[in-house]
Amino acid sequence: MKGKVINRIKLEMDALPENERLARSCISAFISRADPNVEELSDIRTVLSEAVTNAVIHGYAGIEGGKVTVSAVLYSDRRIMMKVKDCGCGIADVKLAMQPLYTTDPSGERGGMGFAIMESFCNKLTVRSKPGKGTIITMIKQLENESEKESTI
Ligand code: ATP
Ligand code: MG
Repeated sequence: MKGKVINRIKLEMDALPENERLARSCISAFISRADPNVEELSDIRTVLSEAVTNAVIHGYAGIEGGKVTVSAVLYSDRRIMMKVKDCGCGIADVKLAMQPLYTTDPSGERGGMGFAIMESFCNKLTVRSKPGKGTIITMIKQLENESEKESTI
Protein backbone atom coordinates (compact mmCIF):
# COMPACT_ATOMS: atom_id res chain seq x y z
CA MET A 1 0.00 0.00 0.00
CA LYS A 2 1.36 3.39 -0.97
CA GLY A 3 0.89 6.30 1.37
CA LYS A 4 -0.69 9.61 0.55
CA VAL A 5 1.39 12.72 0.03
CA ILE A 6 1.67 14.68 3.27
CA ASN A 7 4.01 17.44 2.17
CA ARG A 8 6.38 18.45 -0.66
CA ILE A 9 9.29 20.82 -1.04
CA LYS A 10 11.31 21.99 -4.03
CA LEU A 11 14.48 24.07 -3.90
CA GLU A 12 16.29 25.50 -6.86
CA MET A 13 19.82 26.61 -6.09
CA ASP A 14 22.90 27.82 -7.90
CA ALA A 15 25.41 25.01 -8.31
CA LEU A 16 27.75 26.21 -5.58
CA PRO A 17 29.53 23.93 -3.09
CA GLU A 18 28.13 25.87 -0.10
CA ASN A 19 24.58 25.10 -1.19
CA GLU A 20 25.10 21.43 -0.33
CA ARG A 21 24.90 22.44 3.34
CA LEU A 22 21.84 24.57 2.69
CA ALA A 23 20.06 21.68 0.96
CA ARG A 24 20.84 19.36 3.87
CA SER A 25 19.48 21.87 6.40
CA CYS A 26 16.27 22.46 4.43
CA ILE A 27 15.55 18.76 3.95
CA SER A 28 16.35 18.04 7.61
CA ALA A 29 13.84 20.70 8.67
CA PHE A 30 11.32 19.36 6.15
CA ILE A 31 11.42 15.78 7.48
CA SER A 32 11.46 16.77 11.15
CA ARG A 33 7.66 16.54 11.06
CA ALA A 34 8.03 12.75 10.55
CA ASP A 35 10.28 12.61 13.62
CA PRO A 36 13.05 10.44 12.14
CA ASN A 37 15.49 8.78 14.53
CA VAL A 38 19.11 9.95 14.72
CA GLU A 39 20.35 7.27 12.35
CA GLU A 40 17.64 7.93 9.76
CA LEU A 41 18.32 11.65 9.86
CA SER A 42 22.04 11.06 9.46
CA ASP A 43 21.44 8.68 6.51
CA ILE A 44 19.24 11.24 4.77
CA ARG A 45 21.73 14.04 5.28
CA THR A 46 24.54 11.85 3.99
CA VAL A 47 22.82 10.67 0.80
CA LEU A 48 21.64 14.17 0.01
CA SER A 49 25.11 15.53 0.50
CA GLU A 50 26.59 12.93 -1.89
CA ALA A 51 24.00 13.60 -4.60
CA VAL A 52 24.22 17.42 -4.41
CA THR A 53 28.02 17.35 -4.32
CA ASN A 54 28.05 15.14 -7.43
CA ALA A 55 25.72 17.54 -9.24
CA VAL A 56 27.90 20.54 -8.40
CA ILE A 57 31.32 18.94 -8.89
CA HIS A 58 30.75 16.49 -11.74
CA GLY A 59 27.54 17.66 -13.40
CA TYR A 60 28.74 21.23 -13.77
CA ALA A 61 32.51 20.68 -14.00
CA GLY A 62 33.75 23.60 -16.07
CA ILE A 63 30.20 24.89 -16.66
CA GLU A 64 29.17 28.30 -15.28
CA GLY A 65 25.74 29.29 -14.01
CA GLY A 66 24.30 25.81 -13.41
CA LYS A 67 21.28 25.13 -11.21
CA VAL A 68 20.62 22.20 -8.93
CA THR A 69 17.07 21.32 -7.95
CA VAL A 70 16.43 19.35 -4.79
CA SER A 71 12.93 18.14 -4.07
CA ALA A 72 11.43 15.95 -1.41
CA VAL A 73 8.05 14.35 -0.80
CA LEU A 74 6.88 12.97 2.52
CA TYR A 75 4.23 10.21 2.40
CA SER A 76 1.82 9.10 5.09
CA ASP A 77 3.47 5.66 5.22
CA ARG A 78 6.66 7.43 6.37
CA ARG A 79 8.47 7.16 3.06
CA ILE A 80 10.57 10.07 1.91
CA MET A 81 11.36 10.52 -1.75
CA MET A 82 14.19 12.88 -2.62
CA LYS A 83 15.27 14.00 -6.08
CA VAL A 84 18.45 15.83 -7.00
CA LYS A 85 18.50 17.19 -10.52
CA ASP A 86 21.16 18.93 -12.56
CA CYS A 87 21.20 19.99 -16.19
CA GLY A 88 24.92 19.44 -16.55
CA CYS A 89 27.13 17.11 -18.57
CA GLY A 90 25.27 13.88 -17.77
CA ILE A 91 26.72 10.39 -17.36
CA ALA A 92 27.54 8.30 -20.43
CA ASP A 93 27.60 4.92 -18.65
CA VAL A 94 25.48 4.94 -15.49
CA LYS A 95 26.21 1.31 -14.60
CA LEU A 96 29.95 1.95 -14.71
CA ALA A 97 29.65 5.23 -12.77
CA MET A 98 27.79 3.40 -10.01
CA GLN A 99 30.55 0.82 -9.48
CA PRO A 100 32.25 1.31 -6.10
CA LEU A 101 35.63 3.07 -6.44
CA TYR A 102 34.84 4.31 -9.96
CA THR A 103 35.66 7.98 -10.31
CA THR A 104 36.48 10.31 -13.16
CA ASP A 105 38.02 12.81 -10.76
CA PRO A 106 41.57 13.52 -11.91
CA SER A 107 42.72 15.11 -8.64
CA GLY A 108 42.87 11.83 -6.71
CA GLU A 109 40.85 13.43 -3.89
CA ARG A 110 37.63 11.51 -4.59
CA GLY A 111 37.15 7.88 -3.72
CA GLY A 112 34.37 6.93 -6.12
CA MET A 113 32.13 5.89 -3.24
CA GLY A 114 29.26 8.38 -3.55
CA PHE A 115 26.81 6.10 -5.35
CA ALA A 116 27.72 3.13 -3.13
CA ILE A 117 26.95 5.28 -0.07
CA MET A 118 23.64 6.49 -1.55
CA GLU A 119 22.69 2.90 -2.34
CA SER A 120 23.46 1.58 1.13
CA PHE A 121 21.90 4.45 3.13
CA CYS A 122 18.57 4.59 1.35
CA ASN A 123 16.06 1.91 0.37
CA LYS A 124 16.00 2.64 -3.34
CA LEU A 125 18.28 4.59 -5.65
CA THR A 126 17.49 5.39 -9.27
CA VAL A 127 19.82 7.25 -11.62
CA ARG A 128 18.53 8.74 -14.87
CA SER A 129 21.03 10.55 -17.00
CA LYS A 130 21.63 11.73 -20.54
CA PRO A 131 24.97 12.98 -21.80
CA GLY A 132 24.74 16.71 -22.45
CA LYS A 133 21.31 16.96 -20.78
CA GLY A 134 21.86 16.21 -17.11
CA THR A 135 21.14 13.80 -14.32
CA ILE A 136 18.27 13.04 -11.95
CA ILE A 137 18.97 11.02 -8.82
CA THR A 138 15.91 9.64 -7.03
CA MET A 139 16.27 8.23 -3.54
CA ILE A 140 13.62 6.66 -1.34
CA LYS A 141 14.03 6.22 2.36
CA GLN A 142 11.47 4.37 4.46
CA LEU A 143 11.40 5.58 8.05
CA GLU A 144 10.56 3.03 10.70
CA ASN A 145 7.03 3.42 11.97
CA GLU A 146 6.03 5.05 15.23
CA SER A 147 4.96 1.82 16.93
CA GLU A 148 8.27 0.08 16.09
CA LYS A 149 10.00 3.12 17.50
CA GLU A 150 8.12 2.96 20.78
CA SER A 151 8.71 -0.76 21.18
CA THR A 152 12.50 -0.23 21.05
CA ILE A 153 12.46 2.19 24.01
P1 ATP B 1 33.24 10.45 -4.04
O1 ATP B 1 31.74 10.56 -4.14
O2 ATP B 1 33.68 9.24 -3.28
O3 ATP B 1 33.86 11.72 -3.57
P2 ATP B 1 32.97 10.37 -6.90
O4 ATP B 1 32.07 11.54 -6.80
O5 ATP B 1 33.89 10.34 -8.05
O6 ATP B 1 33.80 10.22 -5.55
P3 ATP B 1 30.56 8.82 -7.12
O7 ATP B 1 29.80 9.82 -6.35
O8 ATP B 1 30.28 7.37 -6.87
O9 ATP B 1 32.14 9.00 -6.91
O10 ATP B 1 30.36 9.11 -8.67
C1 ATP B 1 31.05 8.28 -9.62
C2 ATP B 1 31.25 9.02 -10.91
O11 ATP B 1 29.99 9.25 -11.56
C3 ATP B 1 31.87 10.39 -10.79
O12 ATP B 1 33.29 10.35 -10.70
C4 ATP B 1 31.40 11.08 -12.08
O13 ATP B 1 32.17 10.68 -13.19
C5 ATP B 1 30.01 10.46 -12.27
N1 ATP B 1 28.91 11.33 -11.78
C6 ATP B 1 28.26 11.21 -10.60
N2 ATP B 1 27.29 12.12 -10.50
C7 ATP B 1 27.31 12.85 -11.62
C8 ATP B 1 26.53 13.95 -12.13
N3 ATP B 1 25.53 14.48 -11.42
N4 ATP B 1 26.86 14.42 -13.38
C9 ATP B 1 27.86 13.90 -14.09
N5 ATP B 1 28.62 12.86 -13.68
C10 ATP B 1 28.36 12.34 -12.47
MG1 MG C 1 30.52 11.64 -5.43
